[in-house]
Amino acid sequence: MTDSSEKVYQCIIIGSGPAGLSAALYAARADLAPIVLSGMDLGGQVSKTDNIENYPGFVDGIQGPDLVASFQQQAERFGAEIVYDSATAVDLSQRPFKVTTYGGEYLAEALIITTGASVRELGVSGEREFTGKGVSYCATCDGHFFKEKDLIVVGGGDSALKEGIFLTRFAKAVTIVHRRDELRGGVYLANKAKENPKIDFIWDTVITEVIGDDTVNAVRLKNVKTGQEEVRDIDGVFVFIGHDPNTELFKDQLEMDENGYLVVDQHMHTNLPGVFAAGEVCDPHFQQVVISAGMGAAAAMEAVEYLEDQED
Ligand code: NAP
Repeated sequence: MTDSSEKVYQCIIIGSGPAGLSAALYAARADLAPIVLSGMDLGGQVSKTDNIENYPGFVDGIQGPDLVASFQQQAERFGAEIVYDSATAVDLSQRPFKVTTYGGEYLAEALIITTGASVRELGVSGEREFTGKGVSYCATCDGHFFKEKDLIVVGGGDSALKEGIFLTRFAKAVTIVHRRDELRGGVYLANKAKENPKIDFIWDTVITEVIGDDTVNAVRLKNVKTGQEEVRDIDGVFVFIGHDPNTELFKDQLEMDENGYLVVDQHMHTNLPGVFAAGEVCDPHFQQVVISAGMGAAAAMEAVEYLEDQED
Protein backbone atom coordinates (compact mmCIF):
# COMPACT_ATOMS: atom_id res chain seq x y z
CA MET A 1 0.00 0.00 0.00
CA THR A 2 1.10 3.54 -0.72
CA ASP A 3 2.68 5.35 2.21
CA SER A 4 0.57 8.46 2.25
CA SER A 5 1.95 9.92 5.52
CA GLU A 6 4.10 12.93 4.60
CA LYS A 7 4.72 12.58 0.91
CA VAL A 8 3.54 15.29 -1.45
CA TYR A 9 2.65 13.83 -4.82
CA GLN A 10 3.04 15.95 -7.88
CA CYS A 11 -0.21 14.76 -9.33
CA ILE A 12 -3.17 12.88 -7.92
CA ILE A 13 -6.00 11.72 -10.15
CA ILE A 14 -9.34 11.09 -8.48
CA GLY A 15 -11.29 8.54 -10.53
CA SER A 16 -10.30 5.72 -12.86
CA GLY A 17 -12.59 5.86 -15.87
CA PRO A 18 -11.30 6.60 -19.39
CA ALA A 19 -10.54 10.21 -18.39
CA GLY A 20 -8.66 9.23 -15.23
CA LEU A 21 -6.62 6.43 -16.78
CA SER A 22 -5.75 8.52 -19.85
CA ALA A 23 -4.68 11.36 -17.56
CA ALA A 24 -2.58 8.82 -15.65
CA LEU A 25 -0.89 7.67 -18.85
CA TYR A 26 0.01 11.21 -19.89
CA ALA A 27 1.06 12.30 -16.41
CA ALA A 28 3.18 9.16 -15.99
CA ARG A 29 4.90 9.68 -19.33
CA ALA A 30 5.78 13.18 -18.14
CA ASP A 31 7.46 11.61 -15.09
CA LEU A 32 4.95 12.92 -12.56
CA ALA A 33 4.57 9.43 -11.00
CA PRO A 34 0.84 10.04 -10.54
CA ILE A 35 -1.42 8.06 -8.29
CA VAL A 36 -4.94 7.22 -9.33
CA LEU A 37 -7.57 6.82 -6.63
CA SER A 38 -9.70 4.19 -8.30
CA GLY A 39 -13.04 4.80 -6.58
CA MET A 40 -15.49 1.95 -6.08
CA ASP A 41 -15.10 0.43 -9.56
CA LEU A 42 -11.84 0.58 -11.46
CA GLY A 43 -12.76 1.82 -14.91
CA GLY A 44 -16.02 3.42 -13.82
CA GLN A 45 -19.04 3.01 -16.07
CA VAL A 46 -16.99 1.48 -18.90
CA SER A 47 -16.17 -1.51 -16.72
CA LYS A 48 -19.90 -2.27 -16.74
CA THR A 49 -20.38 -1.79 -20.46
CA ASP A 50 -20.64 -4.63 -22.92
CA ASN A 51 -19.26 -4.18 -26.42
CA ILE A 52 -18.00 -0.65 -27.17
CA GLU A 53 -18.26 -0.20 -30.90
CA ASN A 54 -17.24 3.40 -31.26
CA TYR A 55 -13.84 3.60 -29.59
CA PRO A 56 -11.43 4.21 -32.47
CA GLY A 57 -8.89 1.53 -33.23
CA PHE A 58 -11.08 -1.46 -32.43
CA VAL A 59 -12.70 -2.42 -35.72
CA ASP A 60 -14.93 -5.09 -34.18
CA GLY A 61 -15.51 -3.22 -30.92
CA ILE A 62 -14.03 -4.08 -27.53
CA GLN A 63 -15.55 -5.26 -24.26
CA GLY A 64 -15.63 -2.49 -21.63
CA PRO A 65 -13.58 -4.43 -19.02
CA ASP A 66 -10.94 -5.27 -21.66
CA LEU A 67 -10.61 -1.61 -22.59
CA VAL A 68 -10.23 -0.67 -18.93
CA ALA A 69 -7.55 -3.33 -18.46
CA SER A 70 -5.62 -1.97 -21.46
CA PHE A 71 -5.88 1.61 -20.19
CA GLN A 72 -4.65 0.49 -16.78
CA GLN A 73 -1.72 -1.60 -18.05
CA GLN A 74 -0.58 1.17 -20.35
CA ALA A 75 -0.65 3.79 -17.58
CA GLU A 76 1.13 1.45 -15.13
CA ARG A 77 3.79 0.65 -17.70
CA PHE A 78 4.93 4.28 -17.48
CA GLY A 79 4.83 4.48 -13.69
CA ALA A 80 1.27 5.41 -12.71
CA GLU A 81 0.13 3.77 -9.48
CA ILE A 82 -3.46 2.68 -9.00
CA VAL A 83 -4.62 2.95 -5.39
CA TYR A 84 -7.78 0.95 -4.74
CA ASP A 85 -9.44 3.49 -2.51
CA SER A 86 -12.01 6.26 -2.73
CA ALA A 87 -11.71 9.93 -1.88
CA THR A 88 -14.07 10.86 0.94
CA ALA A 89 -13.09 14.55 1.31
CA VAL A 90 -10.87 17.13 -0.32
CA ASP A 91 -9.43 20.35 1.03
CA LEU A 92 -8.60 22.69 -1.81
CA SER A 93 -8.20 25.76 0.39
CA GLN A 94 -4.40 25.57 0.31
CA ARG A 95 -1.57 23.88 -1.54
CA PRO A 96 -0.60 21.13 -1.48
CA PHE A 97 -4.19 20.02 -1.87
CA LYS A 98 -5.34 17.42 0.62
CA VAL A 99 -7.33 14.33 -0.39
CA THR A 100 -8.75 12.15 2.36
CA THR A 101 -9.63 8.56 1.52
CA TYR A 102 -10.93 5.60 3.52
CA GLY A 103 -7.32 4.46 3.86
CA GLY A 104 -5.43 7.67 4.56
CA GLU A 105 -4.56 11.18 3.50
CA TYR A 106 -2.75 12.27 0.36
CA LEU A 107 -1.17 15.58 -0.57
CA ALA A 108 -0.80 16.78 -4.16
CA GLU A 109 0.61 19.78 -5.97
CA ALA A 110 -1.84 19.24 -8.82
CA LEU A 111 -5.17 17.47 -8.85
CA ILE A 112 -7.06 15.99 -11.78
CA ILE A 113 -10.70 15.25 -11.04
CA THR A 114 -12.23 12.47 -13.12
CA THR A 115 -14.94 11.24 -10.78
CA GLY A 116 -17.43 10.75 -13.62
CA ALA A 117 -21.15 10.47 -13.21
CA SER A 118 -23.54 8.03 -11.56
CA VAL A 119 -26.71 6.50 -12.88
CA ARG A 120 -29.89 8.43 -12.18
CA GLU A 121 -32.69 6.70 -10.33
CA LEU A 122 -36.39 6.92 -11.16
CA GLY A 123 -37.25 7.91 -7.62
CA VAL A 124 -40.48 5.88 -7.51
CA SER A 125 -41.94 3.65 -4.84
CA GLY A 126 -40.42 0.15 -4.80
CA GLU A 127 -37.34 1.09 -6.86
CA ARG A 128 -34.83 1.03 -4.02
CA GLU A 129 -36.52 -1.91 -2.30
CA PHE A 130 -36.20 -4.07 -5.42
CA THR A 131 -32.77 -2.94 -6.59
CA GLY A 132 -30.85 -6.16 -7.10
CA LYS A 133 -34.15 -8.05 -6.94
CA GLY A 134 -35.41 -7.21 -10.40
CA VAL A 135 -34.48 -3.55 -10.66
CA SER A 136 -31.10 -2.95 -12.29
CA TYR A 137 -29.00 -0.16 -13.77
CA CYS A 138 -26.48 -2.45 -15.50
CA ALA A 139 -27.42 -4.80 -18.32
CA THR A 140 -23.91 -6.23 -18.56
CA CYS A 141 -23.91 -7.10 -14.86
CA ASP A 142 -27.44 -8.45 -14.53
CA GLY A 143 -28.76 -9.33 -18.00
CA HIS A 144 -27.92 -13.02 -17.74
CA PHE A 145 -30.21 -13.38 -14.71
CA PHE A 146 -33.19 -12.74 -16.98
CA LYS A 147 -33.08 -15.59 -19.49
CA GLU A 148 -36.44 -15.91 -21.29
CA LYS A 149 -37.95 -13.23 -19.06
CA ASP A 150 -40.09 -10.20 -19.85
CA LEU A 151 -38.21 -6.97 -19.21
CA ILE A 152 -38.91 -3.26 -19.18
CA VAL A 153 -36.20 -0.78 -20.09
CA VAL A 154 -36.85 2.81 -19.04
CA GLY A 155 -35.47 5.73 -21.06
CA GLY A 156 -35.31 7.08 -24.57
CA GLY A 157 -31.59 7.86 -24.93
CA ASP A 158 -28.73 5.90 -26.44
CA SER A 159 -28.15 3.98 -23.23
CA ALA A 160 -31.72 2.67 -23.10
CA LEU A 161 -31.52 1.66 -26.76
CA LYS A 162 -28.07 0.08 -26.59
CA GLU A 163 -28.72 -1.79 -23.37
CA GLY A 164 -32.22 -2.74 -24.50
CA ILE A 165 -30.75 -4.35 -27.61
CA PHE A 166 -28.12 -6.11 -25.49
CA LEU A 167 -30.80 -7.48 -23.16
CA THR A 168 -32.58 -9.21 -26.06
CA ARG A 169 -29.72 -11.72 -25.99
CA PHE A 170 -31.25 -13.09 -22.80
CA ALA A 171 -34.80 -11.85 -22.48
CA LYS A 172 -37.94 -13.21 -24.11
CA ALA A 173 -39.10 -9.65 -24.75
CA VAL A 174 -37.93 -6.12 -23.97
CA THR A 175 -40.37 -3.22 -23.74
CA ILE A 176 -38.80 0.22 -23.84
CA VAL A 177 -40.89 2.68 -21.84
CA HIS A 178 -40.23 6.31 -22.72
CA ARG A 179 -41.82 9.40 -21.25
CA ARG A 180 -42.17 11.12 -24.63
CA ASP A 181 -43.18 9.95 -28.12
CA GLU A 182 -39.79 10.76 -29.64
CA LEU A 183 -36.49 9.11 -28.86
CA ARG A 184 -33.53 11.14 -27.64
CA GLY A 185 -31.06 8.49 -28.84
CA GLY A 186 -29.38 8.60 -32.25
CA VAL A 187 -30.75 7.18 -35.49
CA TYR A 188 -28.36 4.22 -35.68
CA LEU A 189 -29.34 2.69 -32.35
CA ALA A 190 -32.98 3.76 -32.78
CA ASN A 191 -33.22 1.85 -36.05
CA LYS A 192 -31.44 -1.19 -34.62
CA ALA A 193 -33.90 -1.25 -31.70
CA LYS A 194 -36.97 -0.73 -33.88
CA GLU A 195 -35.86 -3.54 -36.22
CA ASN A 196 -35.29 -5.96 -33.34
CA PRO A 197 -38.24 -8.40 -33.19
CA LYS A 198 -37.90 -8.79 -29.41
CA ILE A 199 -38.25 -5.04 -28.73
CA ASP A 200 -41.40 -2.98 -28.55
CA PHE A 201 -42.03 0.54 -27.27
CA ILE A 202 -44.52 2.17 -24.96
CA TRP A 203 -44.57 5.93 -25.56
CA ASP A 204 -45.58 8.89 -23.38
CA THR A 205 -45.42 6.69 -20.33
CA VAL A 206 -43.64 6.61 -16.98
CA ILE A 207 -43.32 4.02 -14.24
CA THR A 208 -44.94 5.23 -11.04
CA GLU A 209 -44.38 2.13 -8.90
CA VAL A 210 -42.34 -1.05 -8.89
CA ILE A 211 -44.34 -3.92 -7.43
CA GLY A 212 -43.22 -7.33 -6.16
CA ASP A 213 -42.92 -9.74 -3.27
CA ASP A 214 -39.43 -11.24 -2.99
CA THR A 215 -38.59 -9.94 -6.46
CA VAL A 216 -40.23 -7.64 -8.99
CA ASN A 217 -43.37 -9.02 -10.63
CA ALA A 218 -45.12 -5.91 -11.96
CA VAL A 219 -44.91 -2.18 -12.55
CA ARG A 220 -47.55 0.52 -12.48
CA LEU A 221 -47.43 2.53 -15.69
CA LYS A 222 -48.98 5.93 -16.27
CA ASN A 223 -49.61 7.56 -19.62
CA VAL A 224 -48.49 11.16 -19.13
CA LYS A 225 -50.88 12.47 -21.81
CA THR A 226 -54.08 10.67 -20.85
CA GLY A 227 -53.34 10.01 -17.18
CA GLN A 228 -54.43 6.40 -17.71
CA GLU A 229 -52.79 3.85 -15.41
CA GLU A 230 -52.06 0.17 -15.96
CA VAL A 231 -50.40 -2.53 -13.88
CA ARG A 232 -48.23 -4.65 -16.12
CA ASP A 233 -46.69 -8.00 -15.18
CA ILE A 234 -42.93 -7.96 -15.66
CA ASP A 235 -39.87 -9.87 -14.45
CA GLY A 236 -37.32 -7.07 -14.41
CA VAL A 237 -36.87 -3.33 -14.83
CA PHE A 238 -33.68 -1.82 -16.27
CA VAL A 239 -33.35 1.92 -15.75
CA PHE A 240 -31.26 4.03 -18.17
CA ILE A 241 -32.40 7.61 -17.71
CA GLY A 242 -29.10 9.43 -17.70
CA HIS A 243 -26.49 10.33 -15.14
CA ASP A 244 -25.67 12.87 -12.46
CA PRO A 245 -22.10 14.10 -11.99
CA ASN A 246 -20.15 12.92 -8.95
CA THR A 247 -19.24 16.33 -7.57
CA GLU A 248 -20.51 16.23 -3.99
CA LEU A 249 -16.90 16.28 -2.71
CA PHE A 250 -16.19 19.60 -4.41
CA LYS A 251 -19.28 21.52 -3.32
CA ASP A 252 -18.45 25.08 -2.24
CA GLN A 253 -14.83 24.56 -3.38
CA LEU A 254 -15.08 24.51 -7.17
CA GLU A 255 -17.38 26.22 -9.62
CA MET A 256 -20.23 24.05 -10.92
CA ASP A 257 -23.08 24.60 -13.34
CA GLU A 258 -26.75 24.44 -12.35
CA ASN A 259 -26.75 20.63 -12.75
CA GLY A 260 -23.67 20.08 -10.62
CA TYR A 261 -21.14 19.54 -13.44
CA LEU A 262 -17.71 21.05 -12.78
CA VAL A 263 -17.05 24.11 -14.90
CA VAL A 264 -13.79 23.93 -16.88
CA ASP A 265 -12.28 26.06 -19.60
CA GLN A 266 -11.27 24.57 -22.93
CA HIS A 267 -7.95 23.47 -21.40
CA MET A 268 -9.63 21.52 -18.62
CA HIS A 269 -8.79 24.07 -15.90
CA THR A 270 -11.33 24.43 -13.13
CA ASN A 271 -11.67 27.85 -11.52
CA LEU A 272 -8.88 26.91 -9.07
CA PRO A 273 -5.27 26.96 -10.34
CA GLY A 274 -3.71 23.50 -10.10
CA VAL A 275 -7.05 21.69 -10.14
CA PHE A 276 -8.12 20.20 -13.45
CA ALA A 277 -11.13 18.11 -14.44
CA ALA A 278 -11.88 15.75 -17.32
CA GLY A 279 -14.53 13.33 -18.50
CA GLU A 280 -18.18 13.16 -17.54
CA VAL A 281 -17.72 15.05 -14.27
CA CYS A 282 -17.42 18.19 -16.43
CA ASP A 283 -19.10 17.03 -19.64
CA PRO A 284 -22.90 17.10 -19.69
CA HIS A 285 -22.88 17.14 -23.47
CA PHE A 286 -20.84 14.41 -25.18
CA GLN A 287 -20.37 11.65 -22.60
CA GLN A 288 -18.36 9.45 -24.91
CA VAL A 289 -15.44 7.21 -23.97
CA VAL A 290 -13.21 8.65 -26.69
CA ILE A 291 -13.96 12.21 -25.63
CA SER A 292 -13.41 11.49 -21.95
CA ALA A 293 -10.08 9.86 -22.78
CA GLY A 294 -9.05 12.91 -24.82
CA MET A 295 -10.08 15.26 -22.04
CA GLY A 296 -8.04 13.23 -19.55
CA ALA A 297 -4.94 13.47 -21.73
CA ALA A 298 -5.46 17.22 -22.12
CA ALA A 299 -5.91 17.71 -18.36
CA ALA A 300 -2.65 15.88 -17.66
CA MET A 301 -0.76 17.94 -20.24
CA GLU A 302 -2.06 21.09 -18.58
CA ALA A 303 -1.10 19.78 -15.14
CA VAL A 304 2.44 19.19 -16.40
CA GLU A 305 2.62 22.75 -17.68
CA TYR A 306 1.16 24.12 -14.45
CA LEU A 307 3.75 22.27 -12.35
CA GLU A 308 6.57 23.46 -14.58
CA ASP A 309 5.36 27.05 -14.17
CA GLN A 310 5.40 26.64 -10.40
CA GLU A 311 9.09 25.71 -10.54
CA ASP A 312 10.06 28.91 -12.37
P1 NAP B 1 -29.60 10.72 -21.98
O1 NAP B 1 -29.15 10.90 -23.37
O2 NAP B 1 -29.59 11.89 -21.05
O3 NAP B 1 -31.06 10.10 -22.03
C1 NAP B 1 -31.79 9.91 -20.88
C2 NAP B 1 -33.18 9.45 -21.26
O4 NAP B 1 -33.89 9.16 -20.08
C3 NAP B 1 -33.96 10.50 -22.04
O5 NAP B 1 -34.70 9.87 -23.05
C4 NAP B 1 -34.86 11.10 -20.97
O6 NAP B 1 -36.10 11.53 -21.47
C5 NAP B 1 -35.09 9.94 -20.05
N1 NAP B 1 -35.32 10.35 -18.67
C6 NAP B 1 -34.58 11.21 -17.93
N2 NAP B 1 -35.10 11.32 -16.68
C7 NAP B 1 -36.18 10.52 -16.65
C8 NAP B 1 -37.11 10.18 -15.64
N3 NAP B 1 -37.04 10.71 -14.42
N4 NAP B 1 -38.11 9.32 -15.95
C9 NAP B 1 -38.20 8.78 -17.18
N5 NAP B 1 -37.32 9.04 -18.18
C10 NAP B 1 -36.32 9.91 -17.91
O7 NAP B 1 -28.72 9.62 -21.21
P2 NAP B 1 -28.04 8.28 -21.79
O8 NAP B 1 -28.96 7.53 -22.66
O9 NAP B 1 -27.48 7.61 -20.58
O10 NAP B 1 -26.85 8.82 -22.66
C11 NAP B 1 -25.88 9.71 -22.09
C12 NAP B 1 -24.86 10.08 -23.15
O11 NAP B 1 -24.07 8.95 -23.51
C13 NAP B 1 -25.48 10.60 -24.44
O12 NAP B 1 -24.67 11.63 -24.94
C14 NAP B 1 -25.44 9.41 -25.35
O13 NAP B 1 -25.38 9.76 -26.73
C15 NAP B 1 -24.17 8.71 -24.89
N6 NAP B 1 -24.23 7.26 -25.17
C16 NAP B 1 -23.83 6.83 -26.39
C17 NAP B 1 -23.89 5.48 -26.69
C18 NAP B 1 -23.44 4.97 -28.03
O14 NAP B 1 -23.30 3.78 -28.20
N7 NAP B 1 -23.21 5.83 -28.97
C19 NAP B 1 -24.39 4.57 -25.76
C20 NAP B 1 -24.81 5.05 -24.53
C21 NAP B 1 -24.74 6.40 -24.25
P3 NAP B 1 -36.23 12.80 -22.44
O15 NAP B 1 -35.74 12.33 -23.77
O16 NAP B 1 -37.67 13.12 -22.40
O17 NAP B 1 -35.36 13.85 -21.82
